[in-house]
Amino acid sequence: MNEMQVELINSIKKFCAQNIEPHMEHDDRDEKFRMEIFNQLGELGLTGITLPEEYGGLGLSYVDLCLALEEIAKSSVSYAVTVSVSTMVQSILNMYGNEDQKKKYLPALTSGEEIGAFCLSESHSGSDASALKTTARKTDGGYILNGSKMWITSGGVAKTYIVMARTGDEGAKGISAFIVRDGMEGFEYGKKEKKMGWRSSPTRELVFNNCFVPAENLLAQEGKGFTIAMSALDRGRITIGAVAVGLSQRALDEAVKYSLERNQFKQAIFEFQGLQWMMADMATEVEASRLLTYQAAKEFDAGKNNVKLASMAKMKATDTAMKVTTDAVQIHGGVGYTSEYPVERFMRDAKVLQIVEGTNQVQKIVIARELRKHYQ
Ligand SMILES: Cc1cc2nc3c(=O)[nH]c(=O)nc-3n(C[C@H](O)[C@H](O)[C@H](O)COP(=O)(O)OP(=O)(O)OC[C@H]3O[C@@H](n4cnc5c(N)ncnc54)[C@H](O)[C@@H]3O)c2cc1C
Repeated sequence: MNEMQVELINSIKKFCAQNIEPHMEHDDRDEKFRMEIFNQLGELGLTGITLPEEYGGLGLSYVDLCLALEEIAKSSVSYAVTVSVSTMVQSILNMYGNEDQKKKYLPALTSGEEIGAFCLSESHSGSDASALKTTARKTDGGYILNGSKMWITSGGVAKTYIVMARTGDEGAKGISAFIVRDGMEGFEYGKKEKKMGWRSSPTRELVFNNCFVPAENLLAQEGKGFTIAMSALDRGRITIGAVAVGLSQRALDEAVKYSLERNQFKQAIFEFQGLQWMMADMATEVEASRLLTYQAAKEFDAGKNNVKLASMAKMKATDTAMKVTTDAVQIHGGVGYTSEYPVERFMRDAKVLQIVEGTNQVQKIVIARELRKHYQ
């Protein structure tokens, strides 16, 4: 790490210890999201790390973003994914938005005053995202949206929503991307999901009932929506990898510390070789996931859009998070299964990382597709 990165990590560590960590146990229980924490992350510059300075970002790299997310995730996966998804929305606006759209929407997002949400999934189309049914019918001066979106991270607390809707025929080429703002007529929030993990990150259904969206809110051109969504997910998968690495590292830290303090059979449980081997495996998997994730981020920063590596990083890091958090609970024994210790929350937070931004089965499809391209 360079000097700037060390400083960045130290300031996040301090912020999380003072402002996030003390709330996590009861906020997880109460499913509470605190906007002020997101605003404060914005004051530290963490909500627009990779965006250009002219739009209020820090103009830093994806490696820097991954370092920040890894650190936030050690305290809270919920706030880390809120930052990750909002940054993904900003990168969509920055890559595909026109100058007016960038000037209008980016500064509030980069500063952390507002949150962005990415809206692709629908109840019948998750992995098969190009089968989405929400429609955007062209009308005078804009489009009329009808339909609903499911499982939208930051639904209800976000202000800017990038919504994929169908302007054309069936399939990927009939999909367009729109900027929809909180409060637009005909745009309502549906039910808030009750979840196993990520409980401080609200996940909601969005409902569009004859919602008029002005033509100026179309991103790029009609029919570009699926390309926009997939290119965003290529970046999002790297950042989800970083979140998973942070979570795994924290679970490992807690497990080793506990094993050194807990005595059974008149010795610290750390002394049992059965547990030592388990922790050695955990540490190795965490490090392997970290190396893969940062390699994917580095290649992205270098302008090599390495789809295969991004999928590998997401799959490896999130499978590791699931394994390592489960083992951390095991090492804690009975107390690990209670909310007295944070490891049970880590295990619940890990599970959904294997599902979002393309399930890990979908990542295998992507990796295999890239292998076919390479070898054919
Ligand atoms: C907490 C949370 C937050 C989310 N946030 C967002 C968000 O912000 N924006 C958004 O758009 N979406 C979001 N999602 C939705 C998420 O992206 C989808 O849940 C995910 O893509 C999987 O879709 P699905 O749930 O419909 O599962 P399905 O697609 O129905 O999959 C069910 C199972 O079948 C497997 N499967 C499906 N197709 C194949 C195949 N071809 N080969 C092998 N196996 C396959 C899957 O891997 C999975 O195991 C979120 C979901 C959750 C739970």
